[in-house]
Amino acid sequence: MNDIKDREILLNPGPVTLTERVRAALGAPDLCHREAEFFDLQDDIRQRLLAVYALDGNRWAPVLISGSGTAAVESMMASLPGADARVLVIDNGVYGERMARMAAIHGIDHDTMTLEWGAWIDPAALRARLQSRAFSHVAVVHHETTTGRLNDLSAIAPVCAEHGVQLLVDAVSSFGAEDIVFADCVAGVAATANKCLHGAPGAAFVITRRSALAQGQTRALYLDLAGYAAKQDARGTPFTPGVPAFHALAAALAEHAENGGWRARRDRYRELAGQVADGLAALGIEAALAADQSSCVLRSYRLPDGLSYEVLHDQLKTAGFVIYAGQGSLARSIFRISTMGAIEQSDVVRLIKRIGEITHS
Ligand SMILES: *Cc1c(COP(=O)(O)O)cnc(C)c1O
Repeated sequence: MNDIKDREILLNPGPVTLTERVRAALGAPDLCHREAEFFDLQDDIRQRLLAVYALDGNRWAPVLISGSGTAAVESMMASLPGADARVLVIDNGVYGERMARMAAIHGIDHDTMTLEWGAWIDPAALRARLQSRAFSHVAVVHHETTTGRLNDLSAIAPVCAEHGVQLLVDAVSSFGAEDIVFADCVAGVAATANKCLHGAPGAAFVITRRSALAQGQTRALYLDLAGYAAKQDARGTPFTPGVPAFHALAAALAEHAENGGWRARRDRYRELAGQVADGLAALGIEAALAADQSSCVLRSYRLPDGLSYEVLHDQLKTAGFVIYAGQGSLARSIFRISTMGAIEQSDVVRLIKRIGEITHS
């Protein structure tokens, strides 16, 4: 597996290149999900998830769901707003738009605060929206992976608190590497195993404030957050979980803690992202969003004139690197590079060298 040819470097925003330890955990012995060994594993993961942001398990419930990150976000959106809820969904990218669609599909009364993709969320504009109409919840994406935009939870949460509004957070691509504000107004934070935590695809979770869970409403069977929470608190599980992905998540969380937790991971990502940005700048390739507005996880870059995404992608793929296209209207103008996963500085050196060869040939 150490042979370069066998190791594809994933620079897409999840799933990530796994460490050998996490990959080995995928091959752990078979477990029946109705036996004590599985519940020990589940308890271990739930404790470790709380520990990532030093949360109190009496106030916050970590709820595991087998599925991708979208399953966690949808279970939060479908379960936490009560019967009389009205949700303001902030849309400044693909994932904000997706949360608005979830609200529509589950018949939740909602409005959308639509911004340009990548735009900053102005707290004053949010305050004006909350004053103009009564809302029970605001739904926001922490790191909008569409553009790399990091939305500032520490500015948004106080505005929600002022108005007695609860916050629903899609932190799928930030949990484990960015600062997450678990303020009193936060009702839930949804995330996944296979982004900043470096686990495998198939396990996702919501960290929900216990008092918010009690005020929610069931709108789905498989994605009923309160149902999962009640079973998991009692060392149970409603359905068959993705056991190998759970084993991998436990190993990934252990590694995350041993490596110094979310702050160390943020430093690491920043270092690698800076190395990518500097290397690309030297080749004349510009960032699409300023570094201080981007997450540590992913940055978007403008495609150089005369180079299509397809050519850049395919040539890099041959060299063992997988980059990521822009979404929607950005598909023709940008490409994205994420530095999550088991990536080394030497990988970035090779990547930049290869991009230099492609752009100057
Ligand atoms: C990756 C991602 C998701 C979920 O994607 P899945 O493919 O369902 O895992 C949701 N929100 C954000 C911000 C993401 O980056």
